[in-house]
Amino acid sequence: MNIILFGPPGAGKGTQAKALEEEMGMVQIATGDMLRAAVKAGTPLGLQAKQMMADGKLVPDGLMIDLIANRIREPDCARGFILDGFPRTIPQAEALTQMLTMENKPLCAVIELKVDENLLIERVSGRFSCAHCGTGYHKKFRQPKVEGVCDKCGHTEFACRADDNPESMKTRLAAYRDQSAPVLPYYMEKGLYCSVDGMAAAESVSKQIRDVLANRA
Ligand code: AMP
Repeated sequence: MNIILFGPPGAGKGTQAKALEEEMGMVQIATGDMLRAAVKAGTPLGLQAKQMMADGKLVPDGLMIDLIANRIREPDCARGFILDGFPRTIPQAEALTQMLTMENKPLCAVIELKVDENLLIERVSGRFSCAHCGTGYHKKFRQPKVEGVCDKCGHTEFACRADDNPESMKTRLAAYRDQSAPVLPYYMEKGLYCSVDGMAAAESVSKQIRDVLANRA
């Protein structure tokens, strides 16, 4: 099963993609994570993307389309994938349709996580993650069980994303409204669009997503 999780920054796409990956064995393809890895490794893509990401702007479509075109051809994608953070523009959505048709990997659903803007800002401004394994936490909503120690791997170093600051968040939300939200009608027309209440607790959102997928399988 191949799906898209869609929503603004802080909607919970990453959390839900990881839960689906564990429960259903599909692969999470998170373009933000791929770009952050490229920035860290200092690859040509990373060097091009670094400042745009820090400013909260979208990376050009051509670069993103090439990145995804290569990723979905990798063997692990044969067991199904969850796109998290792609497509974010109409040209990306159109290119994705073309490449999935060529690869014979049809989409099963595009699931929007609906969350009010106030909560998005609160979620993004408090999040941090384990610097070793990447497990995500939040100052208010999800603290490690033992303060300062990662629940999953036991490491004690944590990091915040460079773009999780109020200035960059403003630009990211504007990019979502102006460039990404218009992608939804594209998938409505194709009969692939569904939505869930992303304001609910993570487990409840996971259940809603599982129900959507059970109905479409
Ligand atoms: P994310 O982790 O999904 O919030 O993405 C972090 C940043 O990576 C975004 O603010 C953009 O700068 C960039 N990015 C990730 N995915 C895309 C995409 N599909 N198109 C353009 N830029 C992207």
